[in-house]
Amino acid sequence: MSRAAPAIVILGNGSLITAQRIQQRYPDALIYGLEHRVEGADRTYSDFGATLRQLYQQDTPIIALCAAGIVIRTLAPLLLEKGVEPPVLAVAEDASAVVPLLGGLGGVNDLAREIAAALGVTPAITTSGELRFGTCLLNPPSGYALGDLEVGKRFVSDLLAGESVRIEGDAPWLARAQLPENPQARLAIHIGHAEREPAAHELMIYPRTVVVKVKHAVGAQVIREALHQATLAWQSLSCIIAAETLMASPQLHEAAVELGVPLRFVPADEQPVGPHSLVWQEQGEHLAIGIAPTPLDVSQIGRARGRLAVIGLGPGAAELMVPAVKAELARANDILGYETYVRMAGPFRNDQVMHCTDNREEMQRARHAFELAAQGRSVVVVSSGDPGVFAMAAAVLEALHESDNPHWHSVDLEMLPGVSASLATAALAGAPLGHDFCVMSLSDNLKPWSIIEKRLDLAAEADLALAFYNPISRSRPWQLGVALEIVARHRTPSTPVVLGRDVGRPAQTLRITTLGELTPDQVDMRTMVLIGSSTTCTFPRAHGADWVYTPRWYGEKP
Ligand code: SAH
Repeated sequence: MSRAAPAIVILGNGSLITAQRIQQRYPDALIYGLEHRVEGADRTYSDFGATLRQLYQQDTPIIALCAAGIVIRTLAPLLLEKGVEPPVLAVAEDASAVVPLLGGLGGVNDLAREIAAALGVTPAITTSGELRFGTCLLNPPSGYALGDLEVGKRFVSDLLAGESVRIEGDAPWLARAQLPENPQARLAIHIGHAEREPAAHELMIYPRTVVVKVKHAVGAQVIREALHQATLAWQSLSCIIAAETLMASPQLHEAAVELGVPLRFVPADEQPVGPHSLVWQEQGEHLAIGIAPTPLDVSQIGRARGRLAVIGLGPGAAELMVPAVKAELARANDILGYETYVRMAGPFRNDQVMHCTDNREEMQRARHAFELAAQGRSVVVVSSGDPGVFAMAAAVLEALHESDNPHWHSVDLEMLPGVSASLATAALAGAPLGHDFCVMSLSDNLKPWSIIEKRLDLAAEADLALAFYNPISRSRPWQLGVALEIVARHRTPSTPVVLGRDVGRPAQTLRITTLGELTPDQVDMRTMVLIGSSTTCTFPRAHGADWVYTPRWYGEKP
């Protein structure tokens, strides 16, 4: 079965040798070592729990070299959320024990057997069916689909109770299992793509040997009906093939989701489609059906619709990254962005390609992202904070707007939001943006300084609280001072000011001051500047800096 490369997680140098022995068995696996404790790991982490949970949520198989109890307690909060889970194993740091913990349907016992064999020990397998038969009947290899999980479970318990079984059809992986086979058995495992009602005591396993090539966009029902007419089981469908011109069709995408198969695209004039072993038959006016003698490798047929997601990492801390962004990072083939942010978005697996560029090459990066996505890859462009706030989302749309390349316009493009620096900073201080506010970048790289001055003047006059991004930099040393002078025309020196630096990152600092005391040397390009309105106020909190908030009302308190 094909699966993602595992992550080998260790807490101390004492586990490194065992980790490396496991890595020899899985050369693509990365060793994650605890910061300051492990030397020579492929990746370091500082928070064991957060790292393990993130790997789990990204469907990465986990091999943790520590006590099983630690792994169980760490992942426990996530267990109820998840249907199919990645394999999770605990391995003793001296290589004496391999304990599969989670991911029975994800192949954890296979992994346990492989690791145990590599370490020369016996795996601690506790799944009765597997112990007896050496394979999980309920988890056929990729290329095959189990008919009915509940029937399967009953079937395994019948076998465990001592029944024998007949195997009808071609199941290469079962030949290796120690099933009690008997041609006269009451129980039968039937492997085939024909549509029929399973008989009593029959477990159906469907080889994914069938493809459907549609001539235009159709729904799932049309495809089901056509397969039924051809007496083919829909469970044997491996993919839907369509012309590239149909790539953005929502109807086809819905059909693929409903049937649980991928969509693959081929040039409109491509004949024949797919591997030579396919035998084609026309089925009505909408589609043709192809059948292969053995399960199909879908990745070899045409190409997928490419995806481009422009994501916001939030200010820095993993806890402030939205789950949709984490999932997107896990599925990405390519990750593009400014190097600092790409590193922040990691760690990545060996099969994921990082494209790090300079912070200023935004349009070039956006075009590169479309080129990769148009090849059918899953591409992520990273921004810090929110991608729509002085960041990559607008650059990506500008690149698309300028392009007449139909392949770029067919890409599945989505923006995934993040917690912007102004909001993360405001939350630390209390609620300085609790009423109307104005967000501005003080950078005059892409707009004239005169418009910045005008907007500052009007926003300050309008008594909006102000959030300044890009407040200052080495190439823009004087602008912040001028900006503060303009604001000071409309605000008193006692107006509260919040400075958040490296918010959500290890070096985070928060400073509460006033407009009168604020000087540009307290601010750098990693700082977010929030300036209160006339109603913004502060009061001491029990410990630490003052609370800052802007009341929800204006004028007379209601
Ligand atoms: N898309 C980003 C903003 C990019 S502009 C977002 O939504 O947050 C870059 C500016 O954002 C920096 O100059 C700084 O003013 C601010 N900034 C970004 N991350 C920050 C952080 N973690 N702490 C404080 N300010 C930050």
